[in-house]
Amino acid sequence: MLEKKDSVTELDVIVVGAGFSGLHILHEFLKRGYNVHLYDDGDGVGGTWDKNNYPGARVDSEVWVYQFTDPDIWQNYTFTEKFPSWRELKPYFNFVADKWELRPHMTFNTRLEGATFDEQENVWHAKFNDGTVRRARHLVLAMGSTTTPAMPKIAGIETFKGEAYHSARWPKEEVSFQGKRVAVIGTGASGVQTIQEASRVADHLTVFQRTPNLALPMGQESYTSDEYAKMRPLIESAMTYSRQTYAGFAYDLGQRPWNDHTDREKTTILRRNWEQRGFRFWLGAPADLFFDEECNRDHYYFWRDQTRKRIKKEHLIELLAPTEPPHPFGAKRPCLEQWYFDVYNQDNVDLVDTNTNPIECITENGIVAGGVMREFDCIVYATGFNNCTGAVAALDIKDGRGRSIKDLWDEKYLTYLGKMVPGFPNLLFTYALQSPSAFLNGPTAAELEGDWVVKTVEHLDMKGVRRYEAKMDAAHLWAQKCNDIANTSLMPQAKSWYMGANVPGKRPEIQMFIGGQTAYKTALEEEMEKGYPGLVLKQGPQADAMTTQRSEKVASL
Ligand code: NAP
Repeated sequence: MLEKKDSVTELDVIVVGAGFSGLHILHEFLKRGYNVHLYDDGDGVGGTWDKNNYPGARVDSEVWVYQFTDPDIWQNYTFTEKFPSWRELKPYFNFVADKWELRPHMTFNTRLEGATFDEQENVWHAKFNDGTVRRARHLVLAMGSTTTPAMPKIAGIETFKGEAYHSARWPKEEVSFQGKRVAVIGTGASGVQTIQEASRVADHLTVFQRTPNLALPMGQESYTSDEYAKMRPLIESAMTYSRQTYAGFAYDLGQRPWNDHTDREKTTILRRNWEQRGFRFWLGAPADLFFDEECNRDHYYFWRDQTRKRIKKEHLIELLAPTEPPHPFGAKRPCLEQWYFDVYNQDNVDLVDTNTNPIECITENGIVAGGVMREFDCIVYATGFNNCTGAVAALDIKDGRGRSIKDLWDEKYLTYLGKMVPGFPNLLFTYALQSPSAFLNGPTAAELEGDWVVKTVEHLDMKGVRRYEAKMDAAHLWAQKCNDIANTSLMPQAKSWYMGANVPGKRPEIQMFIGGQTAYKTALEEEMEKGYPGLVLKQGPQADAMTTQRSEKVASL
């Protein structure tokens, strides 16, 4: 029998993570009168933007869709850039926390380590790294998909005497590359952005590239407050439209088959999407980009020819923009760049292809690759994450048979709707495995998934359900659906984190639902409307006093 200790706090809901998703969910629960508290292991609000503070870190979504749709927020906050950096996003999150009066309901520097479900009382006992245990009926994990940094296993890595940083665990104090010999390992979005900044001030920059990034021109813009104020009506319509597009952007995939277009039309589409900058050339392309080899190659060749025009060092052309695609275009995440390809024209920048010159070891003074020792003052590991599964699987949470979520996923990636795992009742998560995650703009996903989570908890509470758990067969069907869609696409042809192929030892399989926002929304809505056929529901005592109070509060809103 469980004893209630002093350090045990009783809550309706625990939310973990203070990014877009966690803040939205906390706000929605508070509006409904829930006794809810949010915990985050960072110093403050912002989630990924609290931790990925490497030089140049900025978002790849246009600012009009990269914010909450609450008018109280977007009508009152002014951004200065089309693609804001973390320096602007951090104050934005603080503004949101104050506006929604969330601060009394959040605790920072506190990491969830594990949890045990009390089957008699149907409550979670959540254990935090400060030794406290909080009891709650619902556990909501809003920890994001790019949460758990992946460090490469390189001999001697711990012996390096200079500065060494992973892009996702950047120190809070300013790090300067000025006059230093800098190495960046990795050319994903984090690497590209770090490389751009380091190239400007480093004495020498060496980039260790394994796969070229098929990066697209960002098309950054700056705004005065007057200019931004004039854009507000457009921001509103962009937000509205983005709620019905494939990836939550203010543009959509084209539905006409690529080969129904004449050659002239194809060229016009490629040019138009390229010139409009941002991810239009990817997530505003004809949908065939993801399914049809010819369409995909036409896009790749267009990208290659545009990019090659910028690379002046003959020997780097094939490495940065190869004649043939290293993988289908867009099947591995491109990122947005500003002066990335120009960096390589500088005398202080060189590139090491780790396929032909593998990194052998790291010494006290530098990196040995392809038999050559290069000395560095600073090494940046922009080597990515154990995406989608890492954060949830790291928790010490066991089902009734003593198996953790990691044990389950090591065998088979199973979730129901990317929201729940069979065997783990009253536990929900967002922006993780088998949800659209990387294929849905962050705030759009946060609101879509968060609303479903909150409404589900509220609905089940009102019905007197005290224990709800994903059915195993429903989870198998959802996993099958995620795989079926991916397997008809070009996605499995890329060795990418979308396929879980970036972490040695991780079982490669599509990590997300790539059927698009509308299809995902329909699946969530159907589950709700049909009375949750994918869940096993167990009734408890009918609506308690808290629930009654809450429903009165909601009715009066
Ligand atoms: P990433 O896309 O996974 O890139 C990691 C890079 O490190 C890849 O180039 C990878 O090479 C390389 N790498 C890993 N281990 C290596 C090794 N042992 N030796 C040599 N190279 C190695 O990670 P990320 O750049 O941090 O981005 C992750 C995701 O976070 C993005 O896709 C995006 O969703 C999000 N993000 C977004 C933004 C933005 O919006 N601007 C910025 C940063 C991150 P391979 O490609 O060969 O595996």
